[in-house]
Amino acid sequence: MELRKDPITRSWVIVGDEPEHHAPEGRCSFCPGGPKPPQVISTLGPNEHGGGPVMSVVHPSPLYRVEGEPHRRSEGIYDVMNTVGAHEVLVQGIRHDIELWQSSDAEISQFLLLAAQRIQDLKRDLRFKYVTLFKNHGISAGQEFDHPVSQITATTFVPRRVLYELRAARDFYADKERCVFCDTLNQEMRAPDRIVETGADYVSLCPFASRIPYEIWLMPRRHEASFERSVLSKSGNLTELSAMLRHTLQRVTAIAEAFHMVLHTVPNTYQKSNILQYWKTVDEDYHWHFEILPILGTRAKPYFLKEVYYTNISSEAAADRLRKLTVR
Ligand SMILES: [Zn+2]
Ligand SMILES: [Zn+2]
Ligand SMILES: [Zn+2]
Repeated sequence: MELRKDPITRSWVIVGDEPEHHAPEGRCSFCPGGPKPPQVISTLGPNEHGGGPVMSVVHPSPLYRVEGEPHRRSEGIYDVMNTVGAHEVLVQGIRHDIELWQSSDAEISQFLLLAAQRIQDLKRDLRFKYVTLFKNHGISAGQEFDHPVSQITATTFVPRRVLYELRAARDFYADKERCVFCDTLNQEMRAPDRIVETGADYVSLCPFASRIPYEIWLMPRRHEASFERSVLSKSGNLTELSAMLRHTLQRVTAIAEAFHMVLHTVPNTYQKSNILQYWKTVDEDYHWHFEILPILGTRAKPYFLKEVYYTNISSEAAADRLRKLTVR
């Protein structure tokens, strides 16, 4: 396996002829006492409020491997590097049948805390430029394991979508000295047609130019660039964030069988990009958020037909429907 950079779009692609891995049949390896127990990296809990234990383990067939150097090199005009990185599975709990949106505030808090700890810890590795958390739920989202899990990857490059956001946020800040996410949020709060839920510190909303029907974001109301710093600093008080994440996923799973969820947070500023001053204003210009993209099975294909996203449900109608769903 190797990483190749598209010389035109500048995005990195993992390329290789390795056979596709399939989760082994039989008993679940992530359940306590399962066969082939995974290599545990870190465990959190259980705590006195009934949260955890949650654990982070090495992905059984990782896309990226921790050993070695990226060895970035040219092949003619092309850029190539080794698939150095980290690929972990966050086992959200010991129960095989309880998903994140069926969990208590205490349990979700433990999950968020472990995710933040892992991201922070992986960022100490100066080879890594970006670390993220994601969850693919449902067959059409490419779910890999039956056990309720999320995944973390650390990469030697910043993935394309987040790189676009980082550059756009930086440019906006250079022009206006304001965070584009804060500006957007202020406007959305004034005319809350696209707001799904508001709490004291967090909000969920359908973005103005949603890429697919019922796209929903969850973000802090006040400016915070880094998810991991924020969560670690509030480690005793993650109840509101946990509840809003649960509500948001309950809304999404009420309308779709599958979804992608991804965390967008600051790139690794311990990395030498800091010395090179790539992301000089990132603490002021970027604003962490979760993006959740539901997959409405039968209608998945036409969205991409014209190489332009198009959705047949407006963000306002989507927010209205999502808002009215009952959540616990
Ligand atoms: Zn299991
Ligand atoms: Zn902001
Ligand atoms: Zn984003």
